[in-house]
Amino acid sequence: MRPTSGSVCCTRPVRVSDRPRLWEERWHPLREEWVIVAAHRQTRPWLGQTVGVQEERAPEYQPDCYLCPGNSRSSGAVNPDYHGVYVFDNDHPCVGGDAPEESTPPQTPYQSRRADGVARVMCYAPRHDLTLARMATEDIAGIVETWQQQTRDLAARPEVKQVLIFENKGEVVGVSNPHPHGQIYATNFTWKTFDTELEAQCRYARETGRALFADIIGAERRDGRRLIYEDEHAIAFVPYFARYAYEVYVAPTRRVPHISALTDAESESLAKALKDVTVRYDNLWRQPFPYVMPLHQAPTDGGSYDDFHFYIGFLPPLRRPGTVKYLAGPEIGGGNFLSDTSPEEKAAELRAQSTVHYREAASG
Ligand SMILES: [Zn+2]
Repeated sequence: MRPTSGSVCCTRPVRVSDRPRLWEERWHPLREEWVIVAAHRQTRPWLGQTVGVQEERAPEYQPDCYLCPGNSRSSGAVNPDYHGVYVFDNDHPCVGGDAPEESTPPQTPYQSRRADGVARVMCYAPRHDLTLARMATEDIAGIVETWQQQTRDLAARPEVKQVLIFENKGEVVGVSNPHPHGQIYATNFTWKTFDTELEAQCRYARETGRALFADIIGAERRDGRRLIYEDEHAIAFVPYFARYAYEVYVAPTRRVPHISALTDAESESLAKALKDVTVRYDNLWRQPFPYVMPLHQAPTDGGSYDDFHFYIGFLPPLRRPGTVKYLAGPEIGGGNFLSDTSPEEKAAELRAQSTVHYREAASG
């Protein structure tokens, strides 16, 4: 409804210059580093490159897609006529059994070792055009179940120290194939991000007697402005210390070190939270929303990791439609993030979105 003339002054849009300035450093307790939040910079002139959106009217089946059922892959292998989730060993693995046993020892102080482990590709669905956001919650629950199985199976291998599961979505993060899929790296080493988070959580437990991630959840609940989703077993929020504009954490509220330890009810809640967040993302600019989505899991080398809280991080590269958050001097050079946006404002944008995907809303 158009405002009447008498109420115009009350509905005047808040100009950026009228907003309280957010310009501060925020501590990232899981990475134990500072994030510079300089939200007053988000309207600075931008003459750089912008990116287009991925073709969203993809067909249900693409004859030359290497992930569609029944199609051949570059290795010559043929995908079965699969239903539901389909997992196969990556034809171009970064680690794997075919890596050379021996390599030439490098000069001191350098070191090398065999690139051992397993790399797999996980198709979320046979349909070429479905993304997480457009899948039924029951089908997302099937993906969660497969993540659990893969973690359990790969963790049982003696050479595997950690199972890294992730999805790269969108051309802007280097994925040209819209067929919904993620990847699994089971490696003979642990990944730096999770090492850092593990150390931070162990130290916090030692020093305070409390659990760090539970305290983060508590702080997000008390503030409330950055909460996106919550039910009995799962929660989603833009963290106070977000490094990317639309960063969201999706977590079980109970602390478990691996996704495989979730109960059926917790897995179902996680699937609901994933559906909620991905639909809001797509609705934000009415286009498929790109992101990198890692599962943060503890190592699987036989150690005790009770202090580690498993969660899923969404790291979207765009700060505005078509505008990438480039990593440059502060991030690549200095190793700390400079955020041009306010986590509270970005969370408010996501909270304002419908939980019905715009494509379904349009067809309904
Ligand atoms: Zn396909």
